[in-house]
Amino acid sequence: MQAAQKSIVRGTPEGAAQGPVQQPATGELRSDWTRAEVDAIYRMALPELVFRAQTVHRAHHAADRVQTCQLISIKTGGCPEDCAYCPQSAHYQAGVEREGLLESQHVIEVAREAAGRGVTRFCMGAAWRDAPEGREFEKVLDMVRGVSGLGMEVCCTLGMLTERQAERLKEAGLSAYNHNLDTSPEFYGSIITTRVYDDRLKTLAAVRKAGITVCCGGILGMGEGEADRIGLLHQLATLDPHPESVPINMLVRVEGTPLASMPPLDPLEMVRAIATARILMPASRVRLAAGRKQLSPEAVTLCFLAGANSIFVGEKLLTTPNPGPDEDELLLQSLGMKPLEPHAAN
Ligand code: SF4
Repeated sequence: MQAAQKSIVRGTPEGAAQGPVQQPATGELRSDWTRAEVDAIYRMALPELVFRAQTVHRAHHAADRVQTCQLISIKTGGCPEDCAYCPQSAHYQAGVEREGLLESQHVIEVAREAAGRGVTRFCMGAAWRDAPEGREFEKVLDMVRGVSGLGMEVCCTLGMLTERQAERLKEAGLSAYNHNLDTSPEFYGSIITTRVYDDRLKTLAAVRKAGITVCCGGILGMGEGEADRIGLLHQLATLDPHPESVPINMLVRVEGTPLASMPPLDPLEMVRAIATARILMPASRVRLAAGRKQLSPEAVTLCFLAGANSIFVGEKLLTTPNPGPDEDELLLQSLGMKPLEPHAAN
């Protein structure tokens, strides 16, 4: 059996609990975090880190509420990008069957059914490098109109967008656009070679310009070092304004992808990353996203304590497995936590 990817955290560095982090307990909104500050937060002794994160969390969010989101793949496989973690890349043989763009009515029905189960945010993912023009884009706009008409928050991830496409999505009722930075700028080239970090930042700027909220996070456990996790969090927290939604994913190791044999990540790294994200971006919704099936209920509970306030429900996250609805319901019930109502601020 492979050893878990070990954190190189050594506990609180000398003086780190007291400084250099100048931050009121309630967490003011700042986009001028230095990398040294992020480093000092991330490396705090875990009890101190979680305590600070929970304090910030309570100042901005209801501590017993979790937003449930559902993510479906509306166009699967055959993606020309080479993201090393992704079974949908055409570069790898990961057993994912290619499937063209789904029919709008079908997607809207899936969303309606999800809304009936208390899901308040519906996310649609398509394996494209760039969002297409023409008939396919019109179909996506129909889906956005339909899902938004159900009173749900609607999010898309369609690859890189032009400013005009972002404007049209906004007009159709899109609430959020997901475009992850994945990892630190330094480690990015080890994971993806078909695009550069700046391409991601340009799409994020187009999304912002159109008045759509930003969903942007990353993936842990891809062989990155602690400095890369800190680098990713620093990038996210210095976006101005912060992404309203910050998904923190744990690598799902899929056979056939280059990262299939990565050693499993120490779950406490997820807790650290979530707590750090909560402190750095107090008002954002921090989402415990992919990889939840690999976490014990106790680890998920620690993630909630660290400030995660959203999970993805449904048997699948795009193409990878996710805990079943009964499991999630039981966990939330046992913790006394409740799903967020539609359009609740927190
Ligand atoms: S993560 Fe997205 S962009 Fe990268 S290969 Fe998969 S579908 Fe394509």
